Amino acid sequence: MPPLWQSTSPGGQRVHRRASTPRPPRHRCRFGAEAASTPEHPATPEYGGGVNASEPTPVRLRPEIAALPPYRQGRPAPADGFKLSSNENPHDPLPSVRDAVAATAASINRYPDATALALREVLAERFGVTADEVLVGAGSVSLLAALIQAAAGAGDEVVYSWRSFEAYPGLVTVSGATSVQVPNRADHGHELDDLAAAVTDRTRVVIVCSPNNPTGVIVTADEFDAFMAKVPSDRLVLLDEAYVEFVRDGASVDGRALIGRHPNLVILRTFSKAYGLAGLRVGYAIGPVPILDAARATLVPLSVTAASTAAAIASLEPAAERELLARVDVIVERRDRLADALRADGWPIPQAQGNFLWLPTGDATDPTAEALWSAGVVARPFAGDGIRVSVGEEASVDAVVNALKPLAPGRPL
Ligand SMILES: *Cc1c(COP(=O)(O)O)cnc(C)c1O
Repeated sequence: MPPLWQSTSPGGQRVHRRASTPRPPRHRCRFGAEAASTPEHPATPEYGGGVNASEPTPVRLRPEIAALPPYRQGRPAPADGFKLSSNENPHDPLPSVRDAVAATAASINRYPDATALALREVLAERFGVTADEVLVGAGSVSLLAALIQAAAGAGDEVVYSWRSFEAYPGLVTVSGATSVQVPNRADHGHELDDLAAAVTDRTRVVIVCSPNNPTGVIVTADEFDAFMAKVPSDRLVLLDEAYVEFVRDGASVDGRALIGRHPNLVILRTFSKAYGLAGLRVGYAIGPVPILDAARATLVPLSVTAASTAAAIASLEPAAERELLARVDVIVERRDRLADALRADGWPIPQAQGNFLWLPTGDATDPTAEALWSAGVVARPFAGDGIRVSVGEEASVDAVVNALKPLAPGRPL
């Protein structure tokens, strides 16, 4: 197999040739809607200047991209505070995992294995599939991006629930497709009947997130089966299970039980959350080979490093994994205790099956996030909607409960 970056694609390339007739000269060069107009480059906002002519860009950017909100890192946690804003694992890395990563330092002058075969083989064995039915990426977000781009482009639609994972809208926009967002139920879970009903001729991808980030609610196995029966089998369905290891509700959908049952289903999992490898960027997809082959073609080649795959493989060693999953049990117990305490204080916390809780604060989001901040807790506010609080260190439980006590909307008198 040739290296990925040397693949020679027959289509999709345009050879630039000098035009035989010279273009009319441009007398003025301005950005935005007033830019000089030529037949090739009409003076529309699609070229240069983005959507906001008062903030010209130095080069002609895709306006839908220029209009995306710039990434802003959340506030850093105070030294003696808690960073509960990114659903990270609060436990330090295992010594065996650190050793496996350190060992890769001796060969960082070499490119990594482009397909992460060693990790794919370990995962294939555990899921009872072939290594070709596993795709490894630099975090499952990169796999989401690759799968969306493989299936959807300009004029197509990608359907998902809202509110859900904050990365979905941007990934869809970058692909050129259009987002179709289906409101969650009143209990903050996906409304799968509405999701299926939103599938039109233009739909190429439907994303289901269970447990849903940021609300924490699962999709049940029965709901998912009924949903798959309604979605045409030639539309890609992505089941995003980033938090599946934290689920304790036996009725939940489990992608593992669905493997091989649908020609259009890909499940996505990650080492970032339960396995505590967020900083190394490694996740995986399991699904039909033709879909994964297409996604491989859109992935940035060689973005999964030897350190990432070594850490993932070391985390799946039986003794290491036992310890990691015992830590997951600790977080689950902490999560349930935190949710119970907040509910007892009057907070309407929805079902919480990930490593985080959802506070439906609505208009009170900003002052509530501010109160948490003052108590040394950095959470993730979604303006006008709610706040996601990750389950972190043991000491963070009381910090969160105490900070929120005076603000509980349904506080018993
Ligand atoms: C965290 C998360 C992911 C995966 O993140 P990576 O670090 O890129 O693996 C995927 N989906 C959801 C919903 C998440 O919350």
